[in-house]
Amino acid sequence: MVKPFDSHAHLYDEAYDADRAQVLAESARELSGLIIPGADLASSHQAVELAQMYGNVYAAVGFHPHEARLMREGDEDMLAESAKDKKVVAIGEIGLDYYYDHSPRETQKAVFIRQLGLARQLGLPVVIHDRDAHGDILAIMQKEGRGVSGVFHCYSGSWEMAELLLKMGFYLSFGGSLTFKNAAKTVKVAQNTPIDRILLETDAPYLTPVPWRGRRNSPCLVKLVCAKLAALKGLSFEETAGVTAANTCALFNILPGLEQG
Ligand SMILES: [Zn+2]
Repeated sequence: MVKPFDSHAHLYDEAYDADRAQVLAESARELSGLIIPGADLASSHQAVELAQMYGNVYAAVGFHPHEARLMREGDEDMLAESAKDKKVVAIGEIGLDYYYDHSPRETQKAVFIRQLGLARQLGLPVVIHDRDAHGDILAIMQKEGRGVSGVFHCYSGSWEMAELLLKMGFYLSFGGSLTFKNAAKTVKVAQNTPIDRILLETDAPYLTPVPWRGRRNSPCLVKLVCAKLAALKGLSFEETAGVTAANTCALFNILPGLEQG
């Protein structure tokens, strides 16, 4: 049985305070792997701690655009220190969010560029968050993203932008929003994107797939995203799970089957 890989879930979130150990154990058992991306220094440390508990659970460290205003002068060094842990497979999640604007846009851009530099220096891929900031993200990636590989998580841009990103070598990741009724644009992108450039994710505890939309999300529900992508691609669940898990391992330099405990 080929198990899907959830490339993006925030298991340190307070939504799991009551049953985190149970959700983590179930995810480690039911999935081929799981990546927990940080959003600031504290959650990055928590992500690394959780990743250390199971061989097939990994972490990314970084400042989310919401928290960009909190990144201080020496924090790159702190992230670099965390990234020495062998369970840290990426810098993330980083990027721009012009929907919520929790941090000033100029700060978001500066912090994003600093962390792209950190990723290049450490030789790690990046996990990118882009909400309503497609133009600026593309401009920054074209100028500052040279030599950095990565994934656009919960991809929500146009097919035109997707084509450019795919040409630049990036992967696109799809989550629960692929199953939503109003997902026509994302469905079109997923249909057009070659299967060998797609990752699956949940973004748990957010974006719970249909039919559980509105409830708390959990990594195991990546199976519903996998089933939806399989239907869109005319592939079996097994093949879809296998190819997307292999893509995840390729991007993040994870040795499939060899758990790095
Ligand atoms: Zn996220």
